[in-house]
Amino acid sequence: MALDFSETEKEILYQSVLDNKFPDDMGRFGPFGGRYIPETLVPAFSRLEIGVKKYLNDPQFIESWQNELNEWVGRPTAMTYAKQLSHAWGAEVWLKREDLAHTGAHKINNAIGQALLAKKLGAKQIIAETGAGQHGVASAAACARVGLPCRVYMGAVDIKRQAPNVDRMRQLGAEVCAVKTGDQTLRAAIDEAMRNWVSDPADIYYIIGSAVGPHPYPFLVREFQSVIGREARKQIVTQAGGLPNAIFACVGGGSNAIGLFHSFLGDREVELIGVEAGGHGPDLGQNAATLATGTPGVLQGAYTMILQNHDGQVQETHSVSAGLDYSGVGPEHALLQSIGRVDYESATDTEALLALSELCKAEGILTALETAHAFAAAKKWASNNPGKRLLIGNSGRGDKDMITLSAHMKG
Ligand SMILES: *Cc1c(COP(=O)(O)O)cnc(C)c1O
Repeated sequence: MALDFSETEKEILYQSVLDNKFPDDMGRFGPFGGRYIPETLVPAFSRLEIGVKKYLNDPQFIESWQNELNEWVGRPTAMTYAKQLSHAWGAEVWLKREDLAHTGAHKINNAIGQALLAKKLGAKQIIAETGAGQHGVASAAACARVGLPCRVYMGAVDIKRQAPNVDRMRQLGAEVCAVKTGDQTLRAAIDEAMRNWVSDPADIYYIIGSAVGPHPYPFLVREFQSVIGREARKQIVTQAGGLPNAIFACVGGGSNAIGLFHSFLGDREVELIGVEAGGHGPDLGQNAATLATGTPGVLQGAYTMILQNHDGQVQETHSVSAGLDYSGVGPEHALLQSIGRVDYESATDTEALLALSELCKAEGILTALETAHAFAAAKKWASNNPGKRLLIGNSGRGDKDMITLSAHMKG
């Protein structure tokens, strides 16, 4: 259950969102967010916060990041009219093509932004965490580009599941550290990266991979990912002749979704829908649908919605897509849900696999399993809203998922 606000409270919070008041001085998005960290990390976070304020307002820094986006990442990414899908669904379907960005997903927008920031802040070593390996690959590539050594923490379980991405990171010059503590997946990898940062907070910079964690990370990652929505808004107005009626994006930690949604938050007539991993079904432990089925609590440094049991123990999650398989979510999404500006739905493993297959055959686009969840929800919406225009954030490509897809095709 999300926090319960009155209609007046919702309206006031929404106005603050539009006035760009969040995060506030305490790093909060309304009641959510903040900074719950060990004392040893306080100086490092204070330095980071000052650096973020300075460089995100520095036109020269923003220009250097924008140059990297244009020349190295390959932005702006295309806006594609999905002709066959539109015909099949009876709606007008547009795709924002983050799968065409360098390294195959939106993660690079943030990784190169933070790598450039780390360089400015005088870091000598970059650390990052990764679950599926996509953020690890993006960080390894960005570090190579800016000339900083990169160490990636990855759960031992994930290292086995995602062997091709481990090889890619090593090829790009990164050191991959196996994390054998806790659940040996993403959550443990984030804990380990934080622990390592404590050991040398002055020289190490931690590139976080989604809009999660303690302030200022949710803000920093949102700013770097908002390029998606800025481009998409211009493109769809020019190419389609107007705004979409609804926008869909998959939500793991929530970075591609917040990046796409941000430019449209003020357009009340545009429905925004985040789609989480429904896994095998609605029972605790069977999914990663944090906003749809979770409760408020503190996870990895922020007050947000999380999957926890009655004792407050964080719950293991399940999803066919490793990138959505996380028991928390970015605090800004928790706010947008509680004020009713964004709806959060979920799609099951099976629905996502079917949607992926349909998109492949209709448009010749092999999308990521994460992204396929957004397509599954969009298809349902289209069947209830014939003739309407919808935009889907195509967050990444699915080449990385071939092992999973082959296993399902056989099964
Ligand atoms: C990592 C990943 C996601 C999930 O992360 P968010 O921070 O929620 O965007 C979604 N899609 C792809 C392709 C990814 O690699």
